[in-house]
Order: sequence, then structure tokens, then C-alpha cells
Amino acid sequence: MQIYKVGGAVRDRLLGKPVTDIDWVVVGATTEEMLAKGFRPVGADFPVFLHPKSGEEYALARTERKSGRGYGGFTFHASPEVTLEEDLIRRDLTINAMAEDDQQHLTDPYHGQRDLEARLLRHVSPAFAEDPLRVLRVARFAARYADLGFTVAPETLELMRQLSESGELQALTAERSWKEISRALLEDQPQVFIEVLRECGALKVLMPEIDALFGVPQPQAHHPEIDTGVHTLSVLEQAALHKQPLTVRWACLLHDLGKGLTPEEEWPRHIAHEHKGLKLIKAVNERFKAPRDCQELALLVGQYHTHGHRALELKPSTLLELLQSFDVYRRPQRFEEFIAACEMDARGRKGLEQRSYPQADYLRGAAKAARSVAVQPLLEKGFKGPELGEAIKRERLNALKAYKEAASV
Ligand code: ATP
Ligand code: MG
Repeated sequence: MQIYKVGGAVRDRLLGKPVTDIDWVVVGATTEEMLAKGFRPVGADFPVFLHPKSGEEYALARTERKSGRGYGGFTFHASPEVTLEEDLIRRDLTINAMAEDDQQHLTDPYHGQRDLEARLLRHVSPAFAEDPLRVLRVARFAARYADLGFTVAPETLELMRQLSESGELQALTAERSWKEISRALLEDQPQVFIEVLRECGALKVLMPEIDALFGVPQPQAHHPEIDTGVHTLSVLEQAALHKQPLTVRWACLLHDLGKGLTPEEEWPRHIAHEHKGLKLIKAVNERFKAPRDCQELALLVGQYHTHGHRALELKPSTLLELLQSFDVYRRPQRFEEFIAACEMDARGRKGLEQRSYPQADYLRGAAKAARSVAVQPLLEKGFKGPELGEAIKRERLNALKAYKEAASV
């Protein structure tokens, strides 16, 4: 059997990028031979194995045929006769379809190296269209390598466009889509992921709620960039620039969905967009089965981001309600993430990226004041049950009144 490094490991070494995980392809072997060497099979009907020591993935060279909709609809054929070239042709992009032996000798039948130099994301063969997930993968690679100047080849973009129009994207499972979306959001330029999806028409299919924000104006006084879609991308860009976690990035992407529902007569104002957006945020959350912490933060940021911006003007009672909504006493980290998302929203405005955001420290101070109310003295005074709850609330309100007063002198 011959063993080659393939995919990302080859690509990233040639790009001079750090290689994190290595994928291997094995030519000329049978499942029995792999098992005899101690490799552990990954899936029942999938010719992929884990190395007994390194745990890295070794796949038998295989060909595949489309036999139905979605990813389930693939028939694999792995046998010792399948050649390296036959295995590489089923891969998505030319830059991902190179292999390397242990002498670093490159097998590059589809000119991946040429495309690396030309900074082009180009599909290997028309079979690209057989797996709609590749649309998301290409957009993700565009985001990952944007800083190197990579763009999607026009003919690949055209294929992505056809795939988006064909209805095949709907056949993707939530799990596969979320894996790509979450990885893309964690790249340094996640806004490029959304831009590429939009350019090929996939955004309209996958997240019509975000697609609808483009062309919707906001008041120029607060939003010099005017367009709500442009603003959303800038917020996401700021979140990446400030190294925010996935939860915050997801919330940033979804925070203004309600603005897509405003009747044109009301433009450029968006009355109650925070509340109107909640059902859309919920729909997107559920469509991709986003993890619970992402779902929760997106809904909370959607509902309360304007409160965040107006923090210094909020009455103590409103501040208290805000803190209660976040259950800041048991979930302080989640409130921190809310503050971060609000700050990214404020910075995601043209020309205002560097403006300070005093609301952030003010909100942190308010949370601290409310959290500092001790329960023990109230217990000692004999409060219990609902009365205890009321007493705690009263004390917290007093603490916030004092905090606001102290902050305004
Ligand atoms: P990363 O650095 O993100 O791991 P990668 O290119 O190694 O990038 P993997 O998901 O690990 O991506 O996949 C390994 C290789 O398998 C890819 O380089 C590509 O050749 C191929 N591949 C993975 N998923 C697909 C797919 N859906 N369609 C076609 N080829 C794919
Ligand atoms: Mg990989």
C-alpha cells in the first residue's frame, strides 16, 4: 500500500500556514489489511480509519457516485484498484486535491499549485455540484484565505449559483451546515463568508432573513453606512477583529433581523425592530440547530441591544429588569457577552469603529452593584419565600439607584 498526505495539510504547507490536522489517503489496500495493521474503523460503511497511535484519519482511496439527494445520497466505492488521481478528482477544490508522499513529492493532477499561486478557489470537476455542502465550504475557505487575496473562480461561482437555485441546498442537514457556519464565523474575516454566500444566491436560500437586510436603509445620523446588510457585516467584522467567541459572533450576525420586516413607509426608522426580530432569530437558530448558548445569546442580544446602547440613560428599575432578564447573578459570563455584542454593534458603523463605548463599563458596574447585594442579612431579618425575593429585588434596586447617582457626579 502507498500512503499520502492529502487535503488541508498539503495546501497549508504550500501556503506556509500552520498545519493542524493531517488527512491521509491509502492507495492499494483493503479494509482487512488496515484492520490487520491495527487501524480502527470510523464508520460502518465508510472506508475511513484512525491510526492506532496518532489518531489521524486514514481513508482508503475511493470513488463516489451520486445516487440521491443530500449527502446520504452517495455511493462510495473503495478498492485497492482505485488510483490516487481517481480519489483526488472527487474533492471539492483544486487546492484541496493535491497529495504528497513521504518524500514531499507532490501529485497535483488538477493544478492546485497553479491555483494557489493565482489565489483562486476553483472546483476540481463538474461533480462539485453533487454535494451542496461545497457551496458553504468554498465560502468558508474564501473567508479563511481572504487576507492572502484568494477569490472564488468565476466558473466555480457560477456552479455555486446553479446549486443555490436548484433547491439542493435545502437537502443539507442542520448538523453539516452548522459545522461549516460555525467554523466560518470563527475565521478572521467571517464577513467574507456571508458575502460569498450572498453573491452566489445561497444566502437567500439558507438565511433569507439576513439576505433581506441588504437594501434596507437606517438613519444616516446613527448609521453613516446606511445599509442594514452592510452594517451587519461590519458588526461581524468587528467581532472577529476583537477576537470574540462564537456566541458573540452568532448574536452579532442576527441582532438586527427585525429591520428586514419594517414596512417601507417607515424607513429609515425601525420602530420596535428588536421585538419584531425575535421570531426570525428563533427560526434561524432552529434551522441550524445552533448550540443552546448561541441560541440564547442571539435572542437576548436581539431583544436588548438598544438597552445596551442607552445604558447611561436607563432608569434604575429598567436596569434591574435588564439584569434580571440575563440572570446576571448566576450567568455573569453571558452578560459579559451581551456587552461585547453591543459594543461590536456600536463599532460596526462606518467611521465610528474607534469611538469609545462607555456603556460597556457602565453596564459592568451596574451588574457588580446588583450582584453585591447579600442575601444572608435578609434571611436573618426573617424574610422567606416570595417575600425574600421581593426584598432582594428592592435591595438590588437601591444598589442600582446609588450606582447611577454615583456615576452621574
Ligand atoms: P481544514 O484545514 O479546514 O481541515 P481541509 O481541506 O483539511 O481543511 P477537511 O474537512 O479536513 O478540510 O477535509 C479534508 C479534505 O477532504 C479536503 O481538503 C477535501 O479534499 C476533501 N473534502 C472534505 N469535505 C469534502 C466535500 N464535502 N466535498 C469534497 N471534498 C471534500
Ligand atoms: Mg483537514
